[in-house]
Amino acid sequence: MPELPEVETVRRDLEDYLVGASFTDVKFIDFKNVAPEATFLAKYLEKAKVTALRRKGKLLIFDLEKAGDTDKHLLIHLKMTGQLVYQLGTQTKAGGHSLSELDTKSAVGGDLPNKYTHAIFSFDSGGKLYFNDLRKFGYIKLSDTAELEKTLTANYGPEPLEKSFTLSWLTSILAKRTAPVKAVILNQKLIAGLGNIYADEALFIAGINPGMKAHKIKPAKIEALHEAIVRVIKRAIKSRGTTFRNYVDGKGNKGSFIKFLQVYQRQKQPCLQCGETILKAKVAGRGTHYCPSCQK
Ligand SMILES: [Zn+2]
Repeated sequence: MPELPEVETVRRDLEDYLVGASFTDVKFIDFKNVAPEATFLAKYLEKAKVTALRRKGKLLIFDLEKAGDTDKHLLIHLKMTGQLVYQLGTQTKAGGHSLSELDTKSAVGGDLPNKYTHAIFSFDSGGKLYFNDLRKFGYIKLSDTAELEKTLTANYGPEPLEKSFTLSWLTSILAKRTAPVKAVILNQKLIAGLGNIYADEALFIAGINPGMKAHKIKPAKIEALHEAIVRVIKRAIKSRGTTFRNYVDGKGNKGSFIKFLQVYQRQKQPCLQCGETILKAKVAGRGTHYCPSCQK
């Protein structure tokens, strides 16, 4: 699943091509997660110009301008298996979930549209943006500013790299909760954009057992966790995300953060710090990787 660093990479890559371009035509194919109703949304987007491409957590936000109206925003969430592919002439930029682990060409969409294409956005630049989604959990939505602000406030906490993600914020959200620390830091309403890979890595760096009850963590460890979350996300964005079999970035390249992974998907291998065997367990409903010796 694309996480914050992967979605940020897609955003940065698409920004150059889409900001300043206007939609000329929009088609939805066999896709229900569209709001408002597909024909209405398609009609609104015609001649609407993209003025900015933003992101909050894993949500992509296209700011729009149409005939003086700047109150509308197009929201795209890739969820588990969503992918965006932009084609202009012979150029292809793709990001999100890859449809193939072996074939680079189909990893960035292959011939488009394909059977997973659920939306095609055409632009006055001649480019086309394809939204492909294997499992159709992603969504596309038109929102006005007030509704968008409401959604963001209700569903997204501070991001790791925002100023509002302070040590005192992390301390306060952990102190109030008896759930496992991993469940708390994965909760998007408390910290936006931290997903499974980076949560496991940050807890390892901080030396905290993922199953530890949040309110029992000592201040020194909370400080270490705060630092670790910021460091991991910064480095992951710099590396253009992490690539396993199912993720390619906005240029069709694989993210290189994989070389920095210390516990994620390293179960049964020796801990890089102490040599103990890395374990995998279910915590907060997610496959969780940790060293039983370094993480108490
Ligand atoms: Zn260890």
